[in-house]
Amino acid sequence: MGKPVELRCVLCGAHYKPGEVEYTCPKCGLDGTLDVLYDYRQARADMTARALAERPLSLWRYSEILPVSNPDFIPPLSVGWTPLYECSSAAREYGVGMLWVKDDGRNPTGSLKDRASAVGVARALELGRRTIACASTGNAASSLSGFAAVGGLKSFIFVPEKAPAAKVAQLLVYGAAVILVKGDYADAFSLATAAIEKYGWYNRNCAINPYLVEGKKTCALEIAEQTGWDLPDRIFISVGDGCCIGSLYKGFSDLLAMGMIPGIPKITGVQAEGARPIFEAFRTGADRVSFGPADTVADSISVGAPRNWAKALRAVRNTDGDMVSVSDEEILSAIPELARKTGVFGEPAGAAAFAGFRKMAGNGQLGKDERVAIVVTGNGLKDIESARKSVGAPIVSEPEIESFSEQLERSGM
Ligand SMILES: *Cc1c(COP(=O)(O)O)cnc(C)c1O
Ligand SMILES: [Zn+2]
Repeated sequence: MGKPVELRCVLCGAHYKPGEVEYTCPKCGLDGTLDVLYDYRQARADMTARALAERPLSLWRYSEILPVSNPDFIPPLSVGWTPLYECSSAAREYGVGMLWVKDDGRNPTGSLKDRASAVGVARALELGRRTIACASTGNAASSLSGFAAVGGLKSFIFVPEKAPAAKVAQLLVYGAAVILVKGDYADAFSLATAAIEKYGWYNRNCAINPYLVEGKKTCALEIAEQTGWDLPDRIFISVGDGCCIGSLYKGFSDLLAMGMIPGIPKITGVQAEGARPIFEAFRTGADRVSFGPADTVADSISVGAPRNWAKALRAVRNTDGDMVSVSDEEILSAIPELARKTGVFGEPAGAAAFAGFRKMAGNGQLGKDERVAIVVTGNGLKDIESARKSVGAPIVSEPEIESFSEQLERSGM
């Protein structure tokens, strides 16, 4: 199993021994998120193609570079190894060399967040902690509550009052203690931070706890393996706090350090027009992100005060990537378009990545031979209300064939 050898601050580069620091860099405070590093030479020696071929199809197949040393603490839910669909006709239609869609909504609670929760709960158990907590726009919450339930941990979850009903229902079903915070995600985050400090709970916030990104990075590792190590040129992913995009970069960086890939795809982040502080910082070349408003239909990326901005900016800048912003209208219209062209039904934040791709392709910003992957981060059933806004009405008919024919004619279908 994996054993981190060092923690390194993204901002100042300070090194720490695992165990010396639990969350962020003491010198840089909350902004100083840490990278978890391993003995890559050893990992390379153990993680051979032959070894991988015999391992379970879940994120735990990359155990050498995951921060969990005792397999007894691995929660029994199956996470990761979500499908990567090759969508060649859509690729032709949008004028790129290839299009892949990674359907991360297929994880057990319906989003990419499960990758982080699996690792977070395993670590909490390994550390002998009994209670775990987080603030979330919704999915990290549903995910944590599911994994805490199977891991036998108590969970406290802070979500903004406006979180979609399906996500709140998931939380309650799994038995989490749910706190609906009267305010937005930033308010939920502040309250969670204060409560975690006061009560000494284990912190699952992905921008604070460096081990969580380690779980999410397996999405990148899978993309590498599922494309037969012939990586896409560019990857689109939506960006809220910045943990998911930062984790793609971390996953590919690890593979690069192990000599398993020649370079990292251009990581391209997509933000909503109403919540795009990282987009702004990238555009203006700023070295810090200024916090701004957050108002978008894509609740999972409705983040005005992104906590993992340093990892997000690094991911885009170090890979010659890009940032795109899309309107709510573009996000909503992307939901049915993505579903109809690729079969994948994403929640608004998941479809946002596709909206960003469609926009750049439409503007002629992608090469005609460029091979592109899109990560759909969450399942469409998470937010039915938004999905319904993006489509027409069904035909309503009396249970008689005459009525049906009449309605059919009227509908023009
Ligand atoms: C959390 C989430 C995101 C954004 O991830 P960050 O790490 O906050 O940038 C995107 N899509 C979905 C579905 C999410 O749940
Ligand atoms: Zn630092």
